[in-house]
Amino acid sequence: MRSLFCSVCGKEGVPLHDSFCYQCYWKENHTATLKKPKIGLNTCLTCGAVLLPGGWSSSNTPESLPDLLVDFVRKWVNTPLDNEVSAFPMNDPDWDDGKPRLSLLIKVTDESIPEFPPHEESLVLDIDFLWGTCEICAKKSSGGDTIFQLRAIDRNLTKEEEEYVEQVFRDQIEGIGAENPYYFVSDKIEVHKGYDYKCGSNSLVEHVIEVLKKKWLAITSVNYSLVGETKDGTRKYQHTYLFKLPGVKPGDLIYYENSVCRVDVINAAAIIVTDLRSLEVIHIKEWKNLRPIDFFEEPTYLVMSRNYDVYELMDLEDYHTFEIRVDNFSRELELGEEQTFILFKDQLYLR
Ligand SMILES: [Zn+2]
Ligand SMILES: [Zn+2]
Repeated sequence: MRSLFCSVCGKEGVPLHDSFCYQCYWKENHTATLKKPKIGLNTCLTCGAVLLPGGWSSSNTPESLPDLLVDFVRKWVNTPLDNEVSAFPMNDPDWDDGKPRLSLLIKVTDESIPEFPPHEESLVLDIDFLWGTCEICAKKSSGGDTIFQLRAIDRNLTKEEEEYVEQVFRDQIEGIGAENPYYFVSDKIEVHKGYDYKCGSNSLVEHVIEVLKKKWLAITSVNYSLVGETKDGTRKYQHTYLFKLPGVKPGDLIYYENSVCRVDVINAAAIIVTDLRSLEVIHIKEWKNLRPIDFFEEPTYLVMSRNYDVYELMDLEDYHTFEIRVDNFSRELELGEEQTFILFKDQLYLR
């Protein structure tokens, strides 16, 4: 038969659980214990991050650390999941100390015994902050593990290209990077005809390249080189990503299919040029060997007259005249005006 009095103190007419009254039950049992009465937390001198059971926290000011730790306090307490756990800083750590210390008052409330009112236990956890350097700050100071090489084939980059790429980096760092501390560029190094950017993560560079590939044609590649080993023997590789723009840029003149063409646009699918003779717009997909015409003359001639299908032009330096067929040009020449041409491979073109 169930006893109606406490098996320890004999009290009658009170709620019982396992034949204990409330006082006797909680004298014998604990609902919460500290895993360790005192812990040391690695804390980054540079950014204030702390090494929590799940890894480094994001950066903090030391003053915000007590509040941050309050959210993690459950990790240091053995207590059933249903219990409510709260914590309160008991002191202001002296951050100028070599080893600042914080005591947290932890309160645990157990409402799991239906016969009893809620039961509260208090614990005190002492935390020593141990100054060091977090992974991210270590990585930043060593310059990052990933290299992004921005280049163009056989030419210098334009200011616009460089600025666009850097804008894409900024967008990524301010976007996804707000959640990912490895999204950073620690250095930009000018190299022969291009730049190397030292970056904090492969993922940042991969996202940047994804965006750039939607804007421009480019040659891309990834190379890996072994840079060392971690303590547990995992090999560490440095990734080098190459992004190489075409050898021509908008405004350049190229010689394509026996005619001089002007490069108008480079997009993700083609290099779009205008044939200066026919004004035909051509989308070039085989672009890797395209280079600008490196030398051409720009003579000026006086357009003297037109006789059916030929113009008569005069060189104003030596006054010699010559004829040229009208269908060499896609538009009419103004009679009596001086006109500047592009002269390439003995052919005249209008700009
Ligand atoms: Zn009792
Ligand atoms: Zn840090």
